[in-house]
Amino acid sequence: MSDRAEVVVIGGGMIGLSIAAHLAEDGCDTVLLERGALGSGASRATADVVRTYFGGDPEGSRLAVRSLAAYRRRGVPLHQVGYLVLFTEPEQVEAFEAELAEQHAAGVRVELITADEALRRNPLVDEPSLLAAAWSPDAYISDTRRIVVGFEQAARRAGARLHTGRPAIGIDLDAGVVATPNGGVTTDAIVCAAGPWSSWITAAAGVEAPLAEPSVQELLGTGPLPALPDIPVTLHAASRLLIRRRGEGLLIGMGSPGPDRREWLDQATAQLARTYPSVDLTGLHTAVTGPKDASPNRMASLGRRPGVTPFLHATGFSGHGLCQAPAAGELVRALYRGDDLTAFGIGADGPTAAREPDPNRPARSRKGL
Ligand SMILES: Cc1cc2nc3c(=O)[nH]c(=O)nc-3n(C[C@H](O)[C@H](O)[C@H](O)COP(=O)(O)OP(=O)(O)OC[C@H]3O[C@@H](n4cnc5c(N)ncnc54)[C@H](O)[C@@H]3O)c2cc1C
Repeated sequence: MSDRAEVVVIGGGMIGLSIAAHLAEDGCDTVLLERGALGSGASRATADVVRTYFGGDPEGSRLAVRSLAAYRRRGVPLHQVGYLVLFTEPEQVEAFEAELAEQHAAGVRVELITADEALRRNPLVDEPSLLAAAWSPDAYISDTRRIVVGFEQAARRAGARLHTGRPAIGIDLDAGVVATPNGGVTTDAIVCAAGPWSSWITAAAGVEAPLAEPSVQELLGTGPLPALPDIPVTLHAASRLLIRRRGEGLLIGMGSPGPDRREWLDQATAQLARTYPSVDLTGLHTAVTGPKDASPNRMASLGRRPGVTPFLHATGFSGHGLCQAPAAGELVRALYRGDDLTAFGIGADGPTAAREPDPNRPARSRKGL
């Protein structure tokens, strides 16, 4: 089977689908190649958290603010719970204050609150070393599946052709071809949105978009907890322990298990007992697992490499894909069209999130061919 498209998007997770929807809505003849089923990778199941405040990453916050506005425009149901970040070290408070103006300029609603105020917002917290907290009202519980299907429907409605069970197995930027087991797709531009499996594709295009080694991310769940209050999504900054209410229990994340799951579980349990001593952990179980799509600096990488066949990528969303998917689609569309990027807060030098790759690096390569 051979095919032709103006743009080929590789990967049918929430990012690839958002990109395909945005390009197709702009009148661009778009083909998306997904090796399995749509939304079967990191986008299969998440903690369903959509938030706008990303401490230490105002560019990421700006993408999330844009994304929240887009979700609202598209009528995506979101249940507001707010986001609390617990600070236990003076340096964390200093770092928060140092970038507060930048976060506000990015459109984030966030403020420093006292330890007492934090305990009022989340009565489960009983952390002796709590100094202060960041509070952002803009955090929501969403429905990941619904969002993925929403992007899929938008892409189809706008005329994008979504091919499932059809992996990209090679790219040739000189010829403008994406190879698949059942024939190549000839194209004017290629977009890599293959999530945690993007490395060979970006490397083939000569683009640096580092991803951490593929690994499994796991969320834990408690059993039902009697009289559980409504609490915000709460991050313990030092340990990265994140909790939120799900049904009658808690959904819990703390990094990834890595090679020694037992050790990770012991650390997570110990931190839970320290910060939330009243929470009954007897029913603790694996609630969600999925492939981790982390970049080393925990920031997404988006960019465009010019050439005979322009190559664009949007990868490494590092556990934030749901918060940033709509803006990722908008930004890749803008990069494809060559639009001015100042609306994305991207200056002349380009941010880490959208740096133009070096055009002098080799751009022709194939995998498995
Ligand atoms: C347990 C867990 C909880 C999370 N919770 C949250 C949360 O609460 N909020 C949030 O914002 N984010 C969360 N995330 C992160 C979020 O899920 C990811 O950032 C997001 O799904 C990334 O989307 P993606 O489209 O880039 O990647 P993916 O969804 O992995 O999509 C990539 C797709 O590319 C396909 N593919 C790969 N190689 C090829 C190829 N050669 N040819 C064709 N197709 C290919 C794959 O099959 C896959 O479908 C969580 C992640 C996990 C694992």
